[in-house]
Amino acid sequence: MTSGIVLAIANQKGGVGKTTTAINLGAALAAAGKRTLLVDLDPQANATSGLGFDKGRVERSVYEALIGQRSLGDVVIPTEWTGLDLIPSAIRLAGAEIELVGLIAREQRLRRTLDGVVDRYDITLIDCSPSLGLLTVNALTAATGILIPIQCEYLALEALGQLLNTISLVRDNLNQRLDITGIVMTMFDARTNLSQQVVDEVRKHFPRQIFETIIPRSVRLSEAPSYGKPILAYDPASRGAIAYRRLADELIERLDSGSS
Ligand code: ATP
Ligand code: MG
Repeated sequence: MTSGIVLAIANQKGGVGKTTTAINLGAALAAAGKRTLLVDLDPQANATSGLGFDKGRVERSVYEALIGQRSLGDVVIPTEWTGLDLIPSAIRLAGAEIELVGLIAREQRLRRTLDGVVDRYDITLIDCSPSLGLLTVNALTAATGILIPIQCEYLALEALGQLLNTISLVRDNLNQRLDITGIVMTMFDARTNLSQQVVDEVRKHFPRQIFETIIPRSVRLSEAPSYGKPILAYDPASRGAIAYRRLADELIERLDSGSS
């Protein structure tokens, strides 16, 4: 695997497990020895708080880097977990969606600021907000690939059409290398037939992209952020921790074989 892989974790549908995946996959990649950078590109700043930082007190965030007040290297902070660094978000990032409109090369601000920083990492993960606005377009423009978390619930595919449209628009106009690196099925509930049906449906349409590893619905996973910890630290033996470790291994394998 070469360094400098940048994966946007995106789905404009809210609450599908983007941030949970960003935090826990990030921590699992770091634990597997990959130098990992997590960029929190969501004004909700849930990845920032989920890693133990007070989102109301972040002074240097991705926002300052995007609007050119600081270099990106200036806003990277180490986390408690070896190998995992964070570029935090802050609520003021919400303003960037509008402020960026007037700037030159507005879709490429993130790519340009990330230049020279991502090469220091094996993998950079970008946690996107639930929208297909300018911030997400910046993430897709900066990315080498995209990870799409899909919640195992009814009509999962319907919401995907809009995202796939945006991906092909970005590919045609801004970033030819953009490809779907993988689809992560999240919040799988073994007690319902529905979860399995959704997985089967997504597998039928995206046999190559869907990961074998499926993330179970687990209370432990939803508790961990309020302790400011990835699941690997909060409850390393839990099903959620095992699943995210497996997902990290599967992703590394996929990136190694160059099939992304
Ligand atoms: P948003 O679109 O608002 O950014 P998101 O896609 O980032 O949301 P998360 O914040 O990761 O989604 O998850 C939404 C909620 O579901 C959170 O409360 C989270 O703790 C919970 N959750 C995520 N994954 C799981 C899981 N596998 N099991 C149980 N709860 C989960
Ligand atoms: Mg989120």
